[in-house]
Amino acid sequence: MDRKRYDEFVKTFFECDATAVTEIFSEFLAAMAAEESLPPGHVMSQNYATARANPEIHTLPGNLKDARDAVFPYFWGTDGWSSPLHLENVRGPANYASFIGAVACLLKNPNLCTDTYSQRSNELEVKAITALANLIFYNTQDPWGIFTLGGTHSNMYGARIGIEKVLPGAMRNGINGEPVTGVVSEASHYSNQTVAGWVGIGTKNLHAVPTDNRMSMRIDCLIATLDRLYSQGHKVAYVVATFGTTDAFGFDNVAEIRRVIEGKAAEYGAPVPHLHADAAVGWALCFLADYDTERNPLKMTPELLPVINQAQQLCQGLKSADSVTLDFHKMGRGHYPSSAFIVNQRSDLQYLARKVEDTPYFSDADSRRDPALFTLETSRPGLGPYTVMASLNGIGMQGWQMLVSYSLELADILKRKLNNLEYCLVLNQNTPGASVCWWVLPKGRNAREIFERLVNGELPPEDAHRYFAEVRRLFDKREKTMDSTRDARLSFTTNVGYRPLGFDIPAWKAVFFNPKTDEAVIDRLVYSIEELA
Ligand SMILES: *Cc1c(COP(=O)(O)O)cnc(C)c1O
Repeated sequence: MDRKRYDEFVKTFFECDATAVTEIFSEFLAAMAAEESLPPGHVMSQNYATARANPEIHTLPGNLKDARDAVFPYFWGTDGWSSPLHLENVRGPANYASFIGAVACLLKNPNLCTDTYSQRSNELEVKAITALANLIFYNTQDPWGIFTLGGTHSNMYGARIGIEKVLPGAMRNGINGEPVTGVVSEASHYSNQTVAGWVGIGTKNLHAVPTDNRMSMRIDCLIATLDRLYSQGHKVAYVVATFGTTDAFGFDNVAEIRRVIEGKAAEYGAPVPHLHADAAVGWALCFLADYDTERNPLKMTPELLPVINQAQQLCQGLKSADSVTLDFHKMGRGHYPSSAFIVNQRSDLQYLARKVEDTPYFSDADSRRDPALFTLETSRPGLGPYTVMASLNGIGMQGWQMLVSYSLELADILKRKLNNLEYCLVLNQNTPGASVCWWVLPKGRNAREIFERLVNGELPPEDAHRYFAEVRRLFDKREKTMDSTRDARLSFTTNVGYRPLGFDIPAWKAVFFNPKTDEAVIDRLVYSIEELA
């Protein structure tokens, strides 16, 4: 080998040339600043046509600018979601404390599988997980957990523990046709279906309990479902309580679910199902758990205080969960991936445990603390712990309280304004969250009356579907006529999570995750509806 040439390119790619790196970094920052002056959305259209036809790899070793050029069009063609007009979904711009954490992590690139490969980064994970656990479970004694690749994975951990609880040895022996089932609500996230398929119980063995008009699992229906499953000989492995549904921010009553599953398990002589809270979206309300609404030190508006009180009550319920999914990359405004799976009692992780002999290349793993002995993932990025600790401590408790309550406040303001229009109807009026789901019907219709007739079974299905089509048509009309420099970007859901008489209810949707969105954006949104209907 030409040693000189080899040394040259190793120097280029494996020695940190701070000048070259910061120059390119400044160029990225400049491009981002330019992007932020443009309207949100696609600044550059996609080119899938030849993405597969021309997957070129350069022949000669280049330099860091070649690396830059290889990705730049895609960087430029990707929206950073910084615009306050983005209200589409549970996604906001990532905060810059998280960015600092991410950069630190990328410079070291720790692998969180074991202490040996991560050194103090695993310690940071323990710290981050414990901080989050104290927030969620309210100062619990012996929690543990890990950062996973996303909420779907975190939910999978919960399901897996549940399976092992009702079918000990399943990790080794498999499910072998045993009637193992899981229970969710009809408003739960579709990732639970993914999980049921991937853990091998099968999607048909995941039972969805109907919800009430707050998109909350109906306890009477949960009781009926458990009676049916137990009397048919099913092994109920886990129940997922959704804490903040992705569309409408509905909350299941975790404490009540705990009471019911313990009662039913005792009645049928079965092990208590694992109670997992999918708080991927809703966990951040826990920042408000200790907020003193009497003294109101952050001067929240009087209208908001009852919403905060309601959120505080819901958060109390999380203490009853065995484990929780928490997506920091959603309401934590952190970088992907920073989803955490946390158990209230560390002993629950024994259900996932492998022996050191089963993980041969981690032969020096320490079962007291090396995650590789129970994680689904082998290599794991350190981004979660770094971005989360940097965000938690950069922003601080009061910063978080301001961020979260601002989201709640904007949602509350939009709800109030829509309530003034009789052809509109807010569908998640009583869920204290960051999102609003609503109907827009043509002017002259009374949306509330139509909805009540629907719920009472007085609306023939063809009429219902005609109204649903109007809701959709008006949404499409706004999309076509909107001014992308001024009008907020919304999204549409075909099923808001409450299914009276089995109808999938469609809705317009706005999520207030962007800290720069303000009341003027809402006023303009309401104006655009008035112009349209
Ligand atoms: C987003 C979401 C998930 C999936 O999480 P990812 O991090 O996107 O994989 C699961 N459950 C709920 C309630 C969610 O909102």
